[in-house]
Amino acid sequence: MIKAVYIHIPFCEHICSYCDFCKMFYYSSFVDQYLEALEKEIKEKYEKEEIETLYIGGGTPSCLSYEQLKKLFSILKIFHRSSKLEFTVECNIENIDKQKLELFYQEGVNRLSIGMQTFHPHHLKTLQRNHTKK
Ligand code: SF4
Repeated sequence: MIKAVYIHIPFCEHICSYCDFCKMFYYSSFVDQYLEALEKEIKEKYEKEEIETLYIGGGTPSCLSYEQLKKLFSILKIFHRSSKLEFTVECNIENIDKQKLELFYQEGVNRLSIGMQTFHPHHLKTLQRNHTKK
């Protein structure tokens, strides 16, 4: 049986008007507390199954600081991974940079899901997205 793990990172730097996801504003101290609770829960509940998919969604996982992402990846090392692991991180185009992308690559992420609701400038404004088509 395929074992799939979904980790929710419920923090965003901006709350979009249309969003139905479970999310809250990014506060660094809340993220630190959340990561501590996440590590505790995984250690308590995970039963050492081999996992084939690992999906980090949100919220906006990519809004975590570089150090917080490193902490998250160190927690995820608890999982026993299949050699064929599909490892996805959801990203927002506004808060990914070269350093974070290199970290994703080093940590075995092989799939990015990048929120891009529209390329139309007017619709981007209506949806309160801060990125541009460019
Ligand atoms: S960035 Fe994504 S998860 Fe966060 S409020 Fe906007 S649509 Fe929702």
